[in-house]
Amino acid sequence: MESARSHRKSIANDVVSTLPLYRSAPALEVRLEDFTLFAMDRLRVLKGISDGLSRGKKTEEMEQLAKDLWRANMRHPQASEVVNKDIISHFVLRLVYCRTEDLRKWFLPMETALFRYRFRHETAEAQRSLMAEFDLSYKAVSNSEFESVKDKLCQVARSIGMSLPTADAIFYKVPFEEVPELVAGRRVFIHKGHAYVASTQVVSLVATQFRSHLSKALILTNRKWTSTIREQEKDRLAPIVEALCTSYLGPDYSQPKGFSEISLKDIDDLVKSSFPLCMRHLFEKLREDHHLKHGGRMQLGLFLKGVGLKLDDAIAFWKAEFSQKVGAERFDKEYAYSIRHNYGREGKRTDYSPYSCQKIISSTPGAGDHHGCPYRHFSEENLRAALNKMGVDGRAVENVMDKVQNRHYQLACTLTFEAVHNSSCDSGINHPNQYFSDSQKILQSKNHSDAKINKLGARENS
Ligand code: SF4
Repeated sequence: MESARSHRKSIANDVVSTLPLYRSAPALEVRLEDFTLFAMDRLRVLKGISDGLSRGKKTEEMEQLAKDLWRANMRHPQASEVVNKDIISHFVLRLVYCRTEDLRKWFLPMETALFRYRFRHETAEAQRSLMAEFDLSYKAVSNSEFESVKDKLCQVARSIGMSLPTADAIFYKVPFEEVPELVAGRRVFIHKGHAYVASTQVVSLVATQFRSHLSKALILTNRKWTSTIREQEKDRLAPIVEALCTSYLGPDYSQPKGFSEISLKDIDDLVKSSFPLCMRHLFEKLREDHHLKHGGRMQLGLFLKGVGLKLDDAIAFWKAEFSQKVGAERFDKEYAYSIRHNYGREGKRTDYSPYSCQKIISSTPGAGDHHGCPYRHFSEENLRAALNKMGVDGRAVENVMDKVQNRHYQLACTLTFEAVHNSSCDSGINHPNQYFSDSQKILQSKNHSDAKINKLGARENS
């Protein structure tokens, strides 16, 4: 098998490219810890790209975003290991995302987008050598042929806002079916079944090849996974692989972050100002029914712990509600234990973490349950009503509903956050406790600047 390092050299002209084509899995020994960590780092990059694309960012913005994400996540303390990390993480995620059609449908375009952005940052020679590796050895259009179609090429360039081709511009003549994106976007001149592709457009050619190779590879990996790997690795890799696609990649919110503990008397105000919709809904249902089923108690209880509700206050809070329905005695007997358990004071004394969006979104609430993510689990009518109640209306509601229809639930929540706070949230919402802490930061800085303005006003008036 090919070694990872050999990926570094592209075959043509010995030009060094840092962009591997991931043709075959490298024969490397990988520590179990790196297996997971590398994959999670790459997943952060792909998730960031996915968020950027669903937010409708432009190509240049996406290129910059991909570059920043790569730099932030794919470094390695040893420079020599950077390429290995790249290759290992790709193959681990291939295993993770080959397993169902839905997973493949997400992974394939994201990896292709990442490849495309990285390819554009390669030097011209490195790009040429990568093309050669894909057997894309197209002939450059000769000078005389260039002159004969120059007017047509200029017409296309003008219509898509590209600079006009000069005499030394390089164009490749490519069978038009090999550049479907360029043809669909009317970005190339086509003559007698051939598209005239500018050197700046070759990324499209290479990305199509990359996508088709990866698509086939995912199907083959899936066959291997179901026929042998899953069984062989059932005690070691399989549980890691199965957990990776739903793993939460953000910070740990088991302890309150960046703000002090909250007290019971402030909780109703905080619900209105800083709770995400999932937690507002649970809170309102608790106040209405004086009861929540297990899923709701866990989702809300751990969230409240993460925002800084102390154990004694948490017990007082739940008791005040539940005693109205089941009586104080039954509460002490049946429910207080699990609250202490969540705070790590009972059982194995584990400090349980509040649930991430991914975990909440993938839950399956049954009849009478109120947990889950409203963007995923509410009917359209109920969601619209809930958004209006939060003060989101008009165009903003339609934007949220549009994301919901496309199953971008976290993005829908991010747009809600932005509408409610009148402030942008570039990182997107990944965790209910992040929603809370970002909201508190914004409100506190608003309070701070309001106080400053008041002080200045008072000084001017004195
Ligand atoms: Fe809650 Fe996350 Fe859904 Fe927002 S996206 S409502 S924070 S689960």
